[in-house]
Amino acid sequence: MNILQTNELKKYYSQGSNITKALDGISFSVEKGEFVAVVGTSGSGKSTLLHMIGGLDTPTSGTVLVKNNDLTKLNDEQATIFRRRNIGFIFQNYNLVPILNVYENIVLPVDLDGEIVDTAFLDEIINMLSLREKLQSMPNNLSGGQQQRVAIARALVTKPAIILADEPTGNLDSKTSADVIGLLQMSSKKYQQTIVMITHNNEIAQLADRIVRIEDGQIIDRR
Ligand code: ADP
Repeated sequence: MNILQTNELKKYYSQGSNITKALDGISFSVEKGEFVAVVGTSGSGKSTLLHMIGGLDTPTSGTVLVKNNDLTKLNDEQATIFRRRNIGFIFQNYNLVPILNVYENIVLPVDLDGEIVDTAFLDEIINMLSLREKLQSMPNNLSGGQQQRVAIARALVTKPAIILADEPTGNLDSKTSADVIGLLQMSSKKYQQTIVMITHNNEIAQLADRIVRIEDGQIIDRR
């Protein structure tokens, strides 16, 4: 089943007479359950692409379909609602809420949605991510790898159509990075969870199912 499709996506920024073609015709699609790495050097357009897929910004032209909904046609309010229901985010700096403990951080998106937590599923992901002993801990008392595991649990718990991971291993050593990517890979397989990960790190990208390489706002390689 197709979850994500971008068609001839373009994002141009103009400053005075200068035009930067941050995205210059990006077309690719992702099936349910795939774990895809978008890789490219600094300035290649990765963040811009992530913002478009996440419905955080609108393109100059082209379309972004998530579960066949065209995000480029939504107004800000509609995009916010769509994002909350359908997109999970994982960041380089974890973005946990410092005044909430691990358990509260994980269930926060469900609470915000006014939904009831699926406790059986929650239990499973807490076990898979080895967070059982840490549920009462505060984020500041956790290592980077532990914080990122909490962020993965928080992203999984709402069963979003897509998890967007923005340089998820950017602050981690290589061993912890491999562990975290292994957990993303496991999540993708076990729950048919679609994951799009942005990274500038080629070794990390190799651990995904598929790589889309961009340079100067264009796809230069895919496999
Ligand atoms: P990456 O995430 O791969 O480093 P970006 O998507 O951040 O790449 O940037 C792609 C290009 O677009 C770069 O040349 C960058 O300078 C430019 N760019 C990004 N955001 C803006 C903006 N708000 N205004 C002008 N130029 C921008």
